Amino acid sequence: MPRSKQPMVVEKASIEAFYQAEWNRELSEMSRVSFTDEGEVSIDCNLEPHQQTLIFTAGRVATFTRWPFDKIDNATCTSTAMALAGFKSTATAGCPESACCVFCGKEMLFEENDDPWKEHIEHTRFCPFVELDRKKESDWTVEDYLRLKAGLIATDILRQNREDLEKFRNGVDEIRQAIKEKIRD
Ligand SMILES: [Zn+2]
Repeated sequence: MPRSKQPMVVEKASIEAFYQAEWNRELSEMSRVSFTDEGEVSIDCNLEPHQQTLIFTAGRVATFTRWPFDKIDNATCTSTAMALAGFKSTATAGCPESACCVFCGKEMLFEENDDPWKEHIEHTRFCPFVELDRKKESDWTVEDYLRLKAGLIATDILRQNREDLEKFRNGVDEIRQAIKEKIRD
């Protein structure tokens, strides 16, 4: 009998159960890229629980604790609209209107009348969330979910690499400065 090519559709509750089961498989390390002895790239692809929740709108909404446009009447760029468009808040004291897509890492500054979904499409080259075209979470297939999770992991690895590189550069600068001072002495 030919096997069905229909994707398996699961309810959101099943997806949550699925990732919970995955989490329980003792893969508690953060996602990290490493190289095996054979030179192959190995990705330990697990996320911390708080990052897992970002896959879902509710988890992203929760990051917008002081979104400046929620208090403005008729603003289109509300925290809910932002979360529905894939964004989480990356606000700082000096930059409260900053947010980034958790799936492609695109970070932008927003204005009260922006349409977050339109901005997302216009400013990203590729995003697995944009590819889904606002498909309801309850209609996601396991494949949809895994693609989103892969985007989340890739974004996190890139962010971590940028931070590591920054630390490395600062370390190099400090050593350079110390050598200069030694030579002067
Ligand atoms: Zn994106």
